Amino acid sequence: MLTPAASATKPDPQDLLAWYDRHRRDLPWRAKPGVTAEPYRVWLSEIMLQQTTVAAVRPYYLKFLERFPTVEALAEAPADAVMQAWAGLGYYSRARNLHACAKAVVDKHGGHFPRTEAELLKLPGIGAYTAAAVAAIAFDEKAAAVDGNVERVMSRVFMIEEPLPKAKPLIRALTEALVPADRPGDFAQAVMDLGATICTPKRPACALCPWMVPCRARAEGLQEAFPKKQKKEAGQLRKGAAFVVLRADDTILLRTRPPQGLLGGMAEPPTSPWEPDYEPSRAVLDAPIEARWQRLPGTVRHVFTHFPLELTVMFAKVSKGTPAPDDMRWTPRLQLHEEALPGAMKKVLAHALGDLPGGKAKSEKPVKGA
Ligand code: SF4
Repeated sequence: MLTPAASATKPDPQDLLAWYDRHRRDLPWRAKPGVTAEPYRVWLSEIMLQQTTVAAVRPYYLKFLERFPTVEALAEAPADAVMQAWAGLGYYSRARNLHACAKAVVDKHGGHFPRTEAELLKLPGIGAYTAAAVAAIAFDEKAAAVDGNVERVMSRVFMIEEPLPKAKPLIRALTEALVPADRPGDFAQAVMDLGATICTPKRPACALCPWMVPCRARAEGLQEAFPKKQKKEAGQLRKGAAFVVLRADDTILLRTRPPQGLLGGMAEPPTSPWEPDYEPSRAVLDAPIEARWQRLPGTVRHVFTHFPLELTVMFAKVSKGTPAPDDMRWTPRLQLHEEALPGAMKKVLAHALGDLPGGKAKSEKPVKGA
């Protein structure tokens, strides 16, 4: 849903590209003007930049590249070495997927990244945004890479009244319509730079913006009112995935939740984030360890004080020597009742393992919403 045009002028990609040619950020993974970027570097930086700032990524990227200068070097490296090089960046499932993706590129594609968005999307750990970014920046495919920065810019330029996340398909379509055939990679990076440096969440520097004239939100003085976001209403369903791992010595992978917040300090099998628009078909990307994951039929539902939760249960069996990831542990199945498992997590374990052995689970400390 677009607000009626306050200005008849359409945003011109060429104006944005002219601005980009003068003000592009100098980033270590970015090719020099007129040079096509290396797919390995683009992909590596895009994975590192997920949920992490440019400033934090910069030193890690340089060290990582020194240690693994090619996709082949990364694919051949032991998993421990990759995790060690990643240590400190957080979200370790990204590092595991990164390694799996490098192996897939070498094994299935002869060490060359596939050139299209559709093919890239089939690789481990590559979602819609990363596939489009790599296709556009490294292969000049006319793909629209839409991240949070791009959503902000587009929702302001077109004054999109529909709240996020519902507005995502509309934003994507509007972005796609603007991608120029001659410089799709530069366009993708230009919108990212505009969102990161000019069209910032607070106090955007509209006077310096190449799209100031066509920007509808600026014309109305309503820049900071966009993008509209769907309010998290009390009672809104949240979804997520829970990962039950059974090791060959009959132990189960558990972790302790952070002391603050919902179910603070209680035990659980690892879970993904719980969000209204969580997509269970991509749950394996949040898995705590590499394994042959099986999505169990049905879901586990639990009602907390403020919201209902629906968890998809992923199940895997692993061999005896499999180590637990950082901050996790293996608990013998027969001792699960000694763990402080909240009701929702008992349901998850029962869904995957059948009735919990060892009698009734230890009574939970009273937790609001458990
Ligand atoms: S004019 Fe302002 S609000 Fe509009 S796109 Fe540019 S920086 Fe963002």
